[in-house]
Amino acid sequence: MLGFSGTREWVYPQSITGRFTTLRRWTFFALHLILLVPPWVMVGGHPLLLIDIPARQVFLAGTIFTSSDSFFFLLLLLFLAFALFFFTSLWGRLWCGYACPQTVFLETWIRSLEIWIEGDRSQRKRRDRQGWSFDRVWRKVAKWASFLAVSILLAMAIVSLFAPARELWTGGSGSLAYSFVAFFTFLWYLDFTWFREQFCNFLCPYARFQSALTDDETLLIGYDPARGEPRGGKEAAVDGRCIACQKCVVVCPQGIDIRDGFQMECIQCARCIDACVSVMDRLGHRTLVEYTSLAEQEGRTVRRLRPRTVVYGGLLVALVAFGFTLMAQRLPFEATVNRVPGSLFTLDPDGYIRNTYLLKITNNKPGDAPVEFQVSVEGIPGAQVLAQDVELASTETRTLPLIVRVPQDQGLGRTTLIEVRIVSPDGEIDIPTTFKTGATIDAGTHRD
Ligand code: SF4
Ligand code: SF4
Repeated sequence: MLGFSGTREWVYPQSITGRFTTLRRWTFFALHLILLVPPWVMVGGHPLLLIDIPARQVFLAGTIFTSSDSFFFLLLLLFLAFALFFFTSLWGRLWCGYACPQTVFLETWIRSLEIWIEGDRSQRKRRDRQGWSFDRVWRKVAKWASFLAVSILLAMAIVSLFAPARELWTGGSGSLAYSFVAFFTFLWYLDFTWFREQFCNFLCPYARFQSALTDDETLLIGYDPARGEPRGGKEAAVDGRCIACQKCVVVCPQGIDIRDGFQMECIQCARCIDACVSVMDRLGHRTLVEYTSLAEQEGRTVRRLRPRTVVYGGLLVALVAFGFTLMAQRLPFEATVNRVPGSLFTLDPDGYIRNTYLLKITNNKPGDAPVEFQVSVEGIPGAQVLAQDVELASTETRTLPLIVRVPQDQGLGRTTLIEVRIVSPDGEIDIPTTFKTGATIDAGTHRD
């Protein structure tokens, strides 16, 4: 944290073990798998997850989303927003303590390396107080070098979600991909070496607005002053009061004292619970720091179903149901029909009126097998349709001419609504367009 003098006040969190630390380690392990594995697992010839921004394609578990699926992207953003609202209203800053990348990477890599190279809290503090010596220099160099290696690896892992992993990790990607690797490396390195808890305290927008999403019944981590106070004194250990050992304070990565009450800096990492449990267990008493809520501390009943949780939860369920319904109806191809630019209609020498269109089809079906598409036109009985059937490989796009001819004496008006039907083994889509004629036209006339 920044001190009152404006200088950086380093936090030296002490290592801790316990039930919640173990739970968090497993959560971090699972989250690392979610980050590291999908770019390398191939499904239908594509990575399990790849967000290809230049090609405007997202490959997810064998489904290919394109720019025409932007509605799903909007649904995803809404889902994430309401999920955040819902889980925050129920369980407070669970995200910050268990799933935020900043917490996950700091706890998994950075604190472990720091303790391994420089020792635990007291050794690190002592070394930093002693000034520069050979021992301190080589440890700092080793630590910062290891932080740089971790920053590069994490930056590569993040960019692997946006660029094919094999090419990226073997040096085959373009300069843009490596520019982003350099950018993310810089950000992580800055965060690991200097910024750390200041990000939560000064920059994170979620930390700012999460208090608006919680109420007295939201789960939080708190100290029980009714059992803990007055703290210290000879009888505290016997009575089960706080013995003022400071263990919950020295393990806190945010540099705060949970006994001062709820604070915005608290990321609910539960390290202070494990600390107090380790102390109070030895004394044969219940921990004074635990998961609780303001209502529980005041002896009120805690309701899980409250107006805000019902509204957020209901919206979340509705969004999920809507998204799955849309996904079930979604076809793995897209097509557009446009009139050839500058061309309205042509009167052929054999007395037929001709309209020419450009049909664009994209096959979004993953896998090696090509997909065959048949094209027909509905809406004008007896119309001649000149369109070739087309076979497309996965992610292939092709634009082909589509000609519709109708006898001049069929008596069509100037504009007739028609539908271009594209049929694939997975389903069909009808694209509405118009067939144009003229009121009086001579054979061989071409209207632009
Ligand atoms: S007060 Fe406890 S839960 Fe909050 S950040 Fe510090 S150690 Fe984590
Ligand atoms: S760990 Fe428990 S006993 Fe020790 S200072 Fe914190 S609240 Fe008090």
